[in-house]
Amino acid sequence: MANDTLASLRVAPAKPFSLRQHDPGDTLGWNKEAAETELEAVKLRLDALQVRLFAEERRSVLLVLQAMDAAGKDGTIRNILSGLNPAGFHVTGFGVPGGPETQHDYLWRVHEMVPRKGVIGIFNRSHYEDVLVVRVKNFVPRSVWSKRFDHIRDFERMLGDEGTTVVKCFLYVSKDEQRERLQERVDDPEKRWKFRLGDLDDRTLWPKYQKAYEDAIGRTSTAAAPWYVVPADRNWVRNLAVAKILLHHLERLDPQLPEPEEGIEGVVVR
Ligand code: ADP
Repeated sequence: MANDTLASLRVAPAKPFSLRQHDPGDTLGWNKEAAETELEAVKLRLDALQVRLFAEERRSVLLVLQAMDAAGKDGTIRNILSGLNPAGFHVTGFGVPGGPETQHDYLWRVHEMVPRKGVIGIFNRSHYEDVLVVRVKNFVPRSVWSKRFDHIRDFERMLGDEGTTVVKCFLYVSKDEQRERLQERVDDPEKRWKFRLGDLDDRTLWPKYQKAYEDAIGRTSTAAAPWYVVPADRNWVRNLAVAKILLHHLERLDPQLPEPEEGIEGVVVR
């Protein structure tokens, strides 16, 4: 993917943002067969850079995935990570807060799961739920959630300053495609476990969620922690785009292998 394709998915900081500028069905000019071949090449490169990041042990990467139901957060993670070294990655899902999570501020549980140095963390949902579902379903008043955009920007800036590169992807699925996927979950006994009746409530709140996503993305896309809007109606487009975005940021970090211990050169192992 040329970098201008990536750039077209990236949300410019501090500019008015509308999802209307993006098309969930976009193929980004790719075709399926070539994209699947390219994904394998991208993964080889990811693997090599992940080893370097791990060996360097100075910095980390946090990839945040957010989406409406059935957009494919789980599928993206499974696809991108299959065949890579699981030790270099840490996947965290965030559900409805419970237990001690409800007794702390909303960033508490998130901060704890930020990847340690050398590791690539992937968040399946994140602190963004606290300005999305929480807003749409009025779990807290506007006076509370509206302050969170500033907290999140500051939090992510701090992470960047301290060595964690934060990259955020919104997997943008259309309402029609979501209907088909949810129907498939109902109809297919192997997929039914993924379906909750509450998914239908969220569908009726679709416009409110789109507005909440637009505000969240527009207000928290920064140079240090950018948002990308990834077309998600086609799985193969979604998978390659997310893999390329991750690769792009790893390449920019350019992790280096540590200097070998003094005296190693020339050692003969008997
Ligand atoms: P997923 O849908 O991601 O596969 P689950 O079925 O466990 O996983 O759903 C997680 C649920 O938790 C979602 O409905 C999501 O909106 C909700 N959730 C996540 N974070 C929060 C939060 N901070 N406050 C309220 N609900 C949340």
